[in-house]
Amino acid sequence: MKIYDHPTFDMACQQFDEVADYLQIPVSERDRIKYPKRAMTVALPIHRDDGRTEVFFGYRVQHHLALGPTKGGLRYHPDVNLGEVAALAMWMSWKCALTGLPYGGAKGGITCDPRSLSMTELERLTRRYTQEMIPFIGPQVDVMAPDVGTNEQTMAWMMDTYSVHVGSTVSSIVTGKPVGIGGSVGRREATGRGVGYLVNRAMDTVKLDAAKATAVVQGYGNVGSIAALSLAKNGVKIIAISDVNGGVYNRNGLDLWALDRHVAENRTVVGFPGAEPISNEDLLVTECDILVPAAMERQITANNARKIKCRILAEAANGPTTPEADKILTERPEIFIIPDILCNSGGVIVSYFEWVQDLQSFFWTETEVVDKLFRILETSFGQVLALSRKQKIPMRLAALILGVRRVQEAKKLRGLFP
Ligand code: NAD
Repeated sequence: MKIYDHPTFDMACQQFDEVADYLQIPVSERDRIKYPKRAMTVALPIHRDDGRTEVFFGYRVQHHLALGPTKGGLRYHPDVNLGEVAALAMWMSWKCALTGLPYGGAKGGITCDPRSLSMTELERLTRRYTQEMIPFIGPQVDVMAPDVGTNEQTMAWMMDTYSVHVGSTVSSIVTGKPVGIGGSVGRREATGRGVGYLVNRAMDTVKLDAAKATAVVQGYGNVGSIAALSLAKNGVKIIAISDVNGGVYNRNGLDLWALDRHVAENRTVVGFPGAEPISNEDLLVTECDILVPAAMERQITANNARKIKCRILAEAANGPTTPEADKILTERPEIFIIPDILCNSGGVIVSYFEWVQDLQSFFWTETEVVDKLFRILETSFGQVLALSRKQKIPMRLAALILGVRRVQEAKKLRGLFP
């Protein structure tokens, strides 16, 4: 599939092929499950603040439509392209199926550096993208959410643009909105909080005492910052944390509340007093009990997989480990992996809750949201662990098998039209 040519798409395909071999999915069925149903590329001309007109490019990939509307984030990053978005959409399909949500996977993005755009430019770009996507989205068609470089404000602009087009407020068109306009309490924290919950379950499994454990977190955005906080609340000492500019390390533990104030003032963890600087490369191989990649894909590679020194690898980011690194990690059974499609599923689970609340115009308390989130995570973690132990296969393969098999079954039950 030349149009999706990209290392991250190759990686997602390799993972799928491994599962298809394991499940002995007939060759004639494979392409239908593997390749995205729809892919859109749009040109987005906007006025820059200095009066120039600049054209950006936006993408949306809807992976499969067999279980309900498609669901997935919207990413603003300089490296965004169709292949990356297609891989992320494929992973969303397996994630939604694994956790039992009535969705197919999707992902979108705009190739841009959001840090170099003003708020007004970001608003114009977001509204233009939404406008171009109107024929392809809808609460029963495709529902977006925040991802890298986007946030609640982005979702508010999208919802407003769509609602103006329809002529009435349609809050269920996106999730991850501000609570004041139909967002769900607990959505902002959901992904990181879910990571915290699953790491706790992994610590029980490998018999690691939280009070004696240390953690290293790559990425200090929505997911990384909340995951770090959730772990710290459980007694884990966070010894290193980073963002795109670099990292900070203190073997006695970082004061996360002080770090948060530092980031609010400086927009980076770099320069945080009371900690030593550390590069992102060194951070990933720092000795710790829990390693949490919470930034971008393909961070753990054949080059550093042997050097990683942790007991639990909690993949908060999507696709942080390459298949080559995965092979190396399989030969290191001392490392317990919580694979990405399970580890960061808290985000889409609470997005689903937000969509349900919007559709019924009846809102839940934070206790209800968190309780329902943890129940789904508990079931999913239990299913993945049980399959992994029963079949003596890695946690990633077990998680992917559960996801892919459910999509395969749905397609089989619905049949092929005409
Ligand atoms: P974000 O934009 O809020 O934060 C990303 C963080 O990563 C920032 O601190 C950024 O500086 C850092 N970063 C970017 N490139 C980096 C690099 N090369 N090295 C080190 N740090 C780098 O994004 P987010 O929403 O926290 O998403 C992080 C990851 O989690 C992504 O893989 C995303 O797909 C995944 N994810 C997010 C959600 C969600 O609800 N937001 C849900 C599921 C999965």
